Amino acid sequence: MSNRLHVDWTACDGRGLCAELLPEMLTEDDWGYPVARDDMTVPPALEPAARQAVNRCPALALRLVGADRRDA
Ligand code: SF4
Repeated sequence: MSNRLHVDWTACDGRGLCAELLPEMLTEDDWGYPVARDDMTVPPALEPAARQAVNRCPALALRLVGADRRDA
C-alpha cells in the first residue's frame, strides 16, 4: 500500500522546503505553504524523496501515513 503525505497545518511555518525537495508532488502557494499537485498519495518511486522531505521539515509538520490509516 502506498503512503500518503500529511501536513500538520498547526505546525507548518510555510517556508516551502518540502515543495523544493518534492516538486513532483508539491508546489507552494503565495505564502510558501505546500499545495498538493494530486491527492498526496506517494508513488513508490517517490518514497525516498518523500522520506527526505519528512526528515528535513524544520517544523516537524510533514509526515507519511500508511494508506490503511484514516488519520491522514
Ligand atoms: S517543509 Fe515543513 S514547515 Fe516547511 S512548508 Fe513544508 S511542511 Fe511546512
